[in-house]
Amino acid sequence: MTFTRSLLLILLVLLAIFWRRVLFVGGGGLVSLGHLIQGVVSGFDRKGEIGAPEEILERVLTDNEQASQVERWLGGPAHKPEVMIVMCMDPRLNSEVIVGDSRHYYDVVRLPGSVLSEDVIEAIELGVQEHRLKVVLLTTHTDCAMEKVAHSAAAKEYPVLSLAVQRREEMFQRLLQRPAIASRLQAGTLLVRRFQIDTTTGRLLPPQP
Ligand SMILES: [Zn+2]
Repeated sequence: MTFTRSLLLILLVLLAIFWRRVLFVGGGGLVSLGHLIQGVVSGFDRKGEIGAPEEILERVLTDNEQASQVERWLGGPAHKPEVMIVMCMDPRLNSEVIVGDSRHYYDVVRLPGSVLSEDVIEAIELGVQEHRLKVVLLTTHTDCAMEKVAHSAAAKEYPVLSLAVQRREEMFQRLLQRPAIASRLQAGTLLVRRFQIDTTTGRLLPPQP
């Protein structure tokens, strides 16, 4: 058997074993390729100039009109999200990378400093009940600007958010005590996990102690 045939055989065996993973990752690669192509014609200016607000709004409305037409033709997924991730609105964080999903199957809640306010806690509980969430990921991230603000003299400029960052631990405990959350945690039908996101890579790391 030639080397080429042996290599082909090995590839076929690997494909037979890992075909689901190969197709999923391959599909993600095609999405990334699509983003790359879109970026060529409508990317961020390398100089940091992204256009006047009116131009940006016009582009959003044009893109929306076209995307909604395509969505109508193709039909979007009727899938209910099973995962919710709460994360900071830091623009360096790409939620698609962090949840490894570009299909928008997951609920993503973004707030400065990943704060858990009363309304966010209610939103999570609502998601657990109505969207049948099975996993809730509460994240912080490295080099968080909002955390720095909250623990500095600048906190007085953003008093509500800063206080919310300082109370995050207390609010986390309150989330766990909400009836719909507590009962599902006890029954083992819901997981609530905390992670710290590496801002540079998007990788989920164990939470900071
Ligand atoms: Zn942040």
